[in-house]
Amino acid sequence: GAKDKFLKPHTDKVQNVFYPEDDGVREKACMVTLARNKDLWHLVTSVRDVEDRFNKNYHYDWVFLNDEPFNEEFKSVMTAMVSGTAKFGVIPKEHWSFPDWIDQDKAAEVRKQMKEDGIIYGDSVSYRHMCRYESGFFWRHELLDEYEWYWRVEPDIKLFCDIHYDVFKLMKQNNKKYGFILSVSEYEKTIPTLWETTKNFMKEYPQHVKENNLMKFISNDGGKTYNMCHFWSNFEIASLELWRSPAYREYFDYLDRSGGFFYERWGDAPIHSIAAALFLEPEEFHFFDGIGYYHPGFTSCPVEEAIRLQNRCTCDPGDDQTWGDSYFCTRKYFGARGLKLPKEVR
Ligand code: GDP
Ligand code: MN
Repeated sequence: GAKDKFLKPHTDKVQNVFYPEDDGVREKACMVTLARNKDLWHLVTSVRDVEDRFNKNYHYDWVFLNDEPFNEEFKSVMTAMVSGTAKFGVIPKEHWSFPDWIDQDKAAEVRKQMKEDGIIYGDSVSYRHMCRYESGFFWRHELLDEYEWYWRVEPDIKLFCDIHYDVFKLMKQNNKKYGFILSVSEYEKTIPTLWETTKNFMKEYPQHVKENNLMKFISNDGGKTYNMCHFWSNFEIASLELWRSPAYREYFDYLDRSGGFFYERWGDAPIHSIAAALFLEPEEFHFFDGIGYYHPGFTSCPVEEAIRLQNRCTCDPGDDQTWGDSYFCTRKYFGARGLKLPKEVR
């Protein structure tokens, strides 16, 4: 009946994406979470949500990464929570430390100034290592070697709706490489020279920039300036091959050499988004609607009533910020893709 209209394989007209049939075959995919031991009780609700809403039907593995060894409590709780195999990895020191070309005094001076300026995480060393790690290293961890796809999960998130299809199969069968839910604007003071550095990279490595790209999502003036739009990377369902590509490796190395992770406070979200926008074709992106998501700060709740009911969403559509204007960027994303907005938000 009408109730299970979206449960069967079908093509979604808004994004022209095919929802796959479950053929019982699992993709080479995993959940991946970077966390500390002290994040345990903030993470357990996230893992439980993802398991209950999705993974209990698919049993994908879950890779937990930490710059220190996980303790027994963390490992036993997460192993009990996950329906696939839970794996626990330690991050190699060289992926979580200052490169030798960084001037420590200069970096410390910046942190002091950013603290005075009230910039969020402005004085934090560990946050900078985290952003650099999520940009340049998580996909190189040996525990991820066997996978092609990942879903990033963070502490304190919520999933509001049932997911009736294999998200990784959807990515693969539709030739998608990067999937997101919310897109927002970056705080400019954390990335003063990121765009200038990116433009220099594009000049030196023009062969890496796709002719048919998603520049319209990240720039309002054809690439002269960055408009601060990025996909909120605390939720990502994406291809590991994207980050393993020579284009991205050279881009990351170029950014890392410039020192901006430590002399500024570059986030992994704008870096992932800029890279994907330059190195992928517009058709390789996917907006995950129908899932319903919260991470401290913002909420996404499906605007289509039929989808909310069918997926048993527990969110109030009045709280939805997906389609907000100016600060939020998903309207711009739809424009850049040349897609028509869902009729509820037109
Ligand atoms: P926010 O979402 O930008 O406020 O940052 P979070 O505090 O959520 O950190 C982003 C991700 O990195 C989360 O998955 C955290 O658990 C993880 N994380 C942040 N800092 C550290 C750290 O120092 N060590 C480890 N192992 N994980 C961290
Ligand atoms: Mn977070």
